[in-house]
Formats: sequence, structure tokens, C-alpha cells
Amino acid sequence: MIYDLIVAGAGASGMTAAICATDADIYKQFQHKADQTRKRSVLIIEKNKKIGKKLYATGNGRCNLSNSSFRLECYNSKNEFFPYKVIGAKDYQIVNQFAEQLGVAVSDEHGYYYPMSRQASTIVWAFNDRLKKNQIQVHTGEIVIGLEEQSDHTYCIQTDQGHYYARNIVLACGGAAAPALGGTDAGCSLLDQLGIPYYPFQPALCKLQVKEKMSGLAGVRSKALVTVMDASSEIHAQEFGEVQFTGQSLSGIVIFNLSHTAGEMLQDGESVSLCLDLVPDINEADLYMHFRKFRTNNPERSLQACLNGFVHEKLATYILEQCRWKQERISELNDVELQKLADQIKKLTFHVTATAGAEDAQVSRGGADTRFIDPETMKLTVQEHVYVIGELLDTDGICGGYNLMWAVITGMKAGFSIYDSN
Ligand SMILES: Cc1cc2nc3c(=O)[nH]c(=O)nc-3n(C[C@H](O)[C@H](O)[C@H](O)COP(=O)(O)OP(=O)(O)OC[C@H]3O[C@@H](n4cnc5c(N)ncnc54)[C@H](O)[C@@H]3O)c2cc1C
Repeated sequence: MIYDLIVAGAGASGMTAAICATDADIYKQFQHKADQTRKRSVLIIEKNKKIGKKLYATGNGRCNLSNSSFRLECYNSKNEFFPYKVIGAKDYQIVNQFAEQLGVAVSDEHGYYYPMSRQASTIVWAFNDRLKKNQIQVHTGEIVIGLEEQSDHTYCIQTDQGHYYARNIVLACGGAAAPALGGTDAGCSLLDQLGIPYYPFQPALCKLQVKEKMSGLAGVRSKALVTVMDASSEIHAQEFGEVQFTGQSLSGIVIFNLSHTAGEMLQDGESVSLCLDLVPDINEADLYMHFRKFRTNNPERSLQACLNGFVHEKLATYILEQCRWKQERISELNDVELQKLADQIKKLTFHVTATAGAEDAQVSRGGADTRFIDPETMKLTVQEHVYVIGELLDTDGICGGYNLMWAVITGMKAGFSIYDSN
């Protein structure tokens, strides 16, 4: 038998593509074209024993599906503008409507969208039911290991259990993050077999390990404007948010979002520091003046008390340890030392030694070189019937639903292109 389509990988992107390639109602709703019902034979091959394993873990089990806020920093790719040829500011509505088409009510939490049930399993079950309704075959526990174009332009797909033939192939193998949930770089070896260049996967959306010893800060959370800088203090990225301190690393959404840039710089051999402004609402001169006033009004109070007016007490202790001063009372500090104190709070610096490993990352940076992908259809520009979608592409989003949006939108584009094909 020759399938119309074989999809490698039953994650969000692969299942979306399979459904959009077969579903007349979805085609009509989203393509706004007259019904041209097609019967497509589709097989999905998934190496995990269950479909959508990673989806269950998304958004801490709640599945942050999409986000209404959209800016140029939402996606990273070596091909800088490629993501924005694929996805646009209003596409969160398409993703939400797609979920609703599958029977999942979606609700808005300040622009972050989740299934109304707040259960990621709701999404997986909805995918599962639609795959069944559309008579899409699913082989789980089977690994795609090779693919080859035949002389008649069909493809032979080899798995660890046999081989299959198809007119169209969708590669939806995801990235290498979270191997316990299916993360692998197997997709890159399939790209390799097709002669498609790719960037090897590296962890992103992850903690950053730092050189400084800060066991005393474990468990502290603090809002900060975080700047990623190189050795010459050139700014590479900046974001405001809550930093979480662990024994040896910095974490939190703001750090996750900066981990792509930091990881890329480390890979290029650059030294990377994170400069934390713990009081971004006050400029350094005003902070210094505040400390002077504090010294005048409260000469007997401790340095710790002076700092603690602005930052968490454990951060105050840490900052004073870095200063290595013998003085204990604020009256014992001179103006230069007060200036240094203000400087420490505005520019608390940590030196990044590594990103967390793939097992602790939410996504991978790297993947298929997108210069070889048509952004309208996600089709390879050099092979007529092969599509690459989702995290296997060299595009990764920041936290907040952007990666699932990417998986669904790229899956829809590939699926509709296959639905349209003769
Ligand atoms: C803990 C965690 C929480 C997250 N939370 C969110 C969130 O709330 N919002 C958000 O937008 N993003 C989130 N993400 C990221 C998001 O889940 C992924 O970017 C997205 O699921 C990628 O979809 P995909 O279909 O491209 O890849 P995947 O979901 O990784 O699916 C790829 C599938 O292909 C299978 N596969 C791989 N190789 C083969 C092969 N050779 N043969 C057969 N099958 C194969 C894999 O087993 C896997 O099931 C989170 C990620 C993690 C790890």
C-alpha cells in the first residue's frame, strides 16, 4: 500500500498536520475554501508508547496553548525573520479556534490561553479522538530510522519494525529537549539523509549555571531587569521578570527566555554574564542619595537594614558578603562605599558557566535550516513532498505558549498543503 501521508512523530505538530490533511470541516473553517472532500490515507509513526507524551507535561500539566501578545523577540532562529513569515500577531486566535474545533474550550488568563479544564490531558484526548474519527492510523512504539525517495517519487520509510511507502512525508520529530518525554535528535539524522542542513540541538528555555557560590540564596525569588552581557559589557539581550535563585543556578521565566542567547554565546566561546538590576524603578543616583539620607537619619542602623529596605534579606546578606567590608553600621561607610552599595544593587553580576542539560530544558534551539523551507507550506524547497514542522525546525519560542503555537501553526500549514495537493 502507498499512504498519501506518513507523519514521523505524534507530538502537537505531527497530530495537527495529520488532522488538517484529512479533515474537511477544519479545511473549510480555516482555509475558507469550498468543500472539496478528500479521502486521504494517513499513518503516524510514534516512538513513544503513547501519543502526545510531552503535551501532558506542558504548562505544569495545564498546557499553555497560545498567547495574544506578539513581538519580534517571541521567536529565535538563525534565519531571523523566517518565524514571522510563518506566524503572525493574530495566529493565537487560529490556534485557539483549532483547539475549540477539536472540542476543547479555551480560556484567557491575561493573554495566556489554556484549556478551560486547566488540564493538558484534555488536549491529548481531543487529538486522540479526532485521529480516530478521521481514520488516521497510529503506530506507537515504533521508530522511524530512515527514508529514501523512490524512482516514482514516492518515499520508502524504514522503521525499526519494517518499511512503508508514502506520497508525502511530514517530519515532526521535535527537538532533543526533555528526553524522558520523547526528546531526541533523531529528526536531524532524517534531515541528514535528505541532505538538508541543520543546526545541532542545544538546550533552551532552561536554567543557567553560574560561577558564583550562592547557597545562601537558595529559594529566594526577586524581580529584576536582567541583562546578558559579554566580556566587553556589550548588551546581547535584556528582560524584566522574576529571578529564582537555586544553589548554583539562576532560574525563572526571565532566565529561561534569556537562555537561548546565553547558550549561543557560550557555544561561540564568549564569556557571558548576567547583570541584575534589583531595583529598576530607581536610578543609581537616586539610590545613592537615599543611602546618604538613610546614613544621616539612621546612623546606628546596620548595613543589612539599609539594603533590606530594597531587596530580600538574603540578597542583602549576599551583597554585603561580596563587598567584604568589616563595617557593620551605615555611619561607618564613606560616600564612595555608599556609591558601591548602590552599584551592587543596580548591577549584581553573575558569570554563566553553562546552560542546564537537555533533560532540564523545555525546548531545543537548532534544527532544520529554515532557508530550505517554504514558509507558506513548511515544504522543503528542494524536495516536492517532504514537510518539516514544529520544534524540528530551527525556531524556538520564549515561554508563554509560543512553542505550542509554533507546533500547531506549522502543522496546520503542512496539513492544508497536503489536503490541497492532487
Ligand atoms: C516540561 C515542558 C513544558 C512545556 N510547556 C509548554 C507550554 O506550556 N507551552 C508551550 O507553548 N510550549 C511548552 N513546551 C514546549 C512544547 O511542548 C514543544 O515545543 C512542542 O510540544 C513541540 O511539538 P512538536 O510536535 O514539534 O514536538 P514533540 O512534542 O517533541 O513531538 C515529537 C514526537 O516525535 C516523536 N519522535 C521523535 N523521533 C521519532 C522517530 N524517529 N520515530 C518516531 N517518532 C519519533 C517523539 O517521541 C515525540 O512524541 C514545554 C516543553 C516541556 C518539555
